This record gives sequence, C-alpha cells and structure tokens, in this order.
Amino acid sequence: MTAIYTEQHPAINPYESMLERFNVAADILGLSTAKRKSLSTPAKQIILNFSIIMDNGEERNFDGYRVIHSTVLGPSKGGIRFDKDVNIDEVKALAAWMTWKSAVVGLPFGGAKGGIICNPKTMSKTELEKLTRAYTKALIDIFGPNKDVPAPDMGTGADEMGWLMDEYSQVHGKKIYSVVTGKHLDAGGSLGRTEATGRGVSIITMLALKRLGINPEGATVAIQGFGNVGMHSALFLHEHGLKIVAVSDIHETLYCPAGFNIHHLIAYSKKNNNSIKGFPDATPIESGELLVLPVDVLIPAAREDVITAANVNDVKAKLIVEGANGPTSADADEVIQHKGIVVVPDILANAGGVTVSYFEWLQNRLDEKWEVEKINRLLEEILERSFGEVFDMAEKHKVSLRIAAYVIAMKRVADGQDKNAKALNSNI
Ligand code: NAD
Repeated sequence: MTAIYTEQHPAINPYESMLERFNVAADILGLSTAKRKSLSTPAKQIILNFSIIMDNGEERNFDGYRVIHSTVLGPSKGGIRFDKDVNIDEVKALAAWMTWKSAVVGLPFGGAKGGIICNPKTMSKTELEKLTRAYTKALIDIFGPNKDVPAPDMGTGADEMGWLMDEYSQVHGKKIYSVVTGKHLDAGGSLGRTEATGRGVSIITMLALKRLGINPEGATVAIQGFGNVGMHSALFLHEHGLKIVAVSDIHETLYCPAGFNIHHLIAYSKKNNNSIKGFPDATPIESGELLVLPVDVLIPAAREDVITAANVNDVKAKLIVEGANGPTSADADEVIQHKGIVVVPDILANAGGVTVSYFEWLQNRLDEKWEVEKINRLLEEILERSFGEVFDMAEKHKVSLRIAAYVIAMKRVADGQDKNAKALNSNI
C-alpha cells in the first residue's frame, strides 16, 4: 500500500473550488463580469439560530443555514444536511451545485441547500424531530412548493422530510406534500427515490465504462461512504457484474480483493447501526488508502474535498464517478487531466436523486402515483441524454467532463436570466 492521507484538507473552501471551475466555463461562454457575478452569487443567504429542549430537559442552541443560489429556472431545490462540520461556505457551494445539477439534466428547478451544525448520531429521534420542526418554523416563509423545495442530504432522510412536511402543512391548515421530497411512501414519497442517486451513479458508471471501452464484467470498484449513495451504488454496480473491492464509512475502511458479497454487506451494516465495522472476510485498511487503490472505478460517495493536491498523484483509478458533492477539489484538476483520469462530475453523476425528487414533486402536484418501472425508465432516459450532451460538449471544446457540464448548465441559467430580464423590460 502507498502513503496514507487525511480525508479532508482544512484549507479548502468548497465555494472557491466551485468558482474556479465556474470561471473556466465562463471564459468558454464569454460571459461578462456582470453575468459572472449574477450567475455565481447566491440569491439569498439565511443564517439561523434557534433552541430546542433536549431529552434531559436542558435547552440547547443550534446554528443553521439555508442558501438559495438560484430560482431562475424554477423553484429552488436542495437538501438539508445535519452534520457537525456544516458551514456557510459549504452550504453556498452545495447550493450552487444544485443549480448546475438541475440545469445540466434539464429540470425546471433552481438550486438551494440547507444545514444545521449538529451531530445527528448522538441525538434521539425526538430531539431530531424537534430540531427539524424548529428549522422548518424558522424557514416557514422561505419554503414552498413553488418557492423552495428541500430534500434529504447527509444526516437526514425520509423521517426528517416527513416532519418538515407535517410542520409546514400544520401552519397552512392542509397537507402540502410537494413542499419537500424524499419522504416516506405513506407520507407522499415516490417509489424509487431512496435508491435514485445510487441508481443514477450506476447508470452513469456503465455509460462511462462503455465510452472508455472498459468491460464492466469484473471491473473493480472502490467506494468511499456506505450511506444512501454509496450503498445503493454498490448494490446496482454489483448487479451489473462489477466487483466492489473496497468500501468505507466514517468508522472503517475494508478491502476485499475477491469482491464483496454486497447483499451480505448491506444486511450486516443495517444490523450494525448502519456501519460496516467488523464485517468478516475483509481486511481493514487505513481510510486514505481506499482512494489510491489500483481499481478501474473510484466512487467517492461521502463528502467534499477528499481528492486533493495532497493525494491526487497517487490516485490510480481510470474512472472517478462523483457520488458525493464536491469530492474533488479544484487543486487536483490539473493532475487529473494530466494523468488522463476521466472524472464524471458530481453535478451529472449524482443527479439521479434530484431527478426522482422532481418526479416526486410532480406526482404530489398531479395527485398521481407512478409505477417504479416508469420512474426508472424516465431516470435512465434523462441521464443517458444528459451524459451524451456533456460528453459531446467536452469533445467540442476539448475540456474535461466537469467543465463541459458547467458550460451546459451555466448557459441554460444565463439564457433563463436573459429571458426574465427581457420580460421585466417589456413590463415597464
Ligand atoms: P449518508 O449520511 O446516507 O451517508 C454518508 C456516508 O459517508 C456514511 O456511510 C458515513 O459513515 C460516510 N462517511 C462520512 N464521512 C466519511 C469519511 N470521512 N470517510 C469515509 N466515509 C465517510 O449521506 P448520503 O445521502 O449517502 O450522501 C453522501 C454524499 O452524496 C454527500 O456528499 C451528499 O451531498 C451527496 N448526495 C446525496 C444525495 C442523496 O440523494 N442522498 C444526492 C446527491 C448527492
């Protein structure tokens, strides 16, 4: 094994990383200074502070955020993160990526993100419910099916989305399902939403392998993060014949050169408080080693800034498919390009989640329930078309898939802004 690295580079600002790629794409599009400013600056940034009573009777204070990056193409859409490292620059970056993500796959949404600084693993269900309801109350005038539509992200899931929907509905005197996506099925959720991001990652991986001429049968995969995205990506890729040889979560990193039995690993993790720690028939390795294993496909599916200038020289994967948002910092781009590693960027690779969120939002509004076959077919069609468009754009401008995806997304939002500005002019 080669050198070992820490997962996160503290000096990296994810919003700055976003801006670096944004500016390269803006040059290609020939955008004016004013246009760059209006496209990159968040439309609204809300900083919150509120208290809840914990189970032990003590009052505890929390800081939270909601950043609305853009509503140009539709209501802003984006998850809520519960994590101890949440900060305004992270939320700003995540909100901007949501704008580009929706735009690159052609959804009628803008981008937003929210978060609360907390450690959900140490909180009870009751405390998490109070936290979610307090956050919703604080943002009651911001959220809305036609304004800002949240979804799950790291540390949140269907329970939190159900509480949010309920709190919002109570204030409005009726059930309003379409205010949030990622809900449980019996609370207006959609079939296929839970696994949508991982399914999307697997669809994109298969398309990329085909373009690269790599046979998926037996191709090796390392996955960082075994939560919603990592676990479902592992499951679908395993079903497509790929060999998952390394997985990790916050507690453990496991290596199994013969390939994991993913069904066993998922069952084990579910029984083991959602952790892979202690899974037999695999070798524990240092967490940083997973990122530099000699595999065909590397899927970072945990958090941002894990592939950086500090470790990129040792990355040996042929293909990186970004399941997480922002896992590759801008300072790693040049080496990646030089080494010829193909990176499918987050805004395309993990867009399966927001795409099925869009289907959920539509079903809620139309009062319909779609079959899972229809959902999966539409998801595949959208991702396949978007992947083709990004690939063609990359060839046209001789740029990375990431820059190509930014070019497509930014052009769509810029055109939307111009259309809105013209409409405003004609009203005066
Ligand atoms: P999750 O909370 O379900 O899972 C996160 C996983 O990562 C857990 O297994 C956790 O233990 C692990 N992890 C955290 N820090 C780690 C570290 N330093 N090293 C190794 N493992 C670590 O979250 P999720 O919903 O799967 O989201 C993961 C990433 O995917 C985030 O970047 C999120 O923004 C992005 N994403 C999620 C969705 C979605 O639908 N859930 C959609 C698009 C993008």
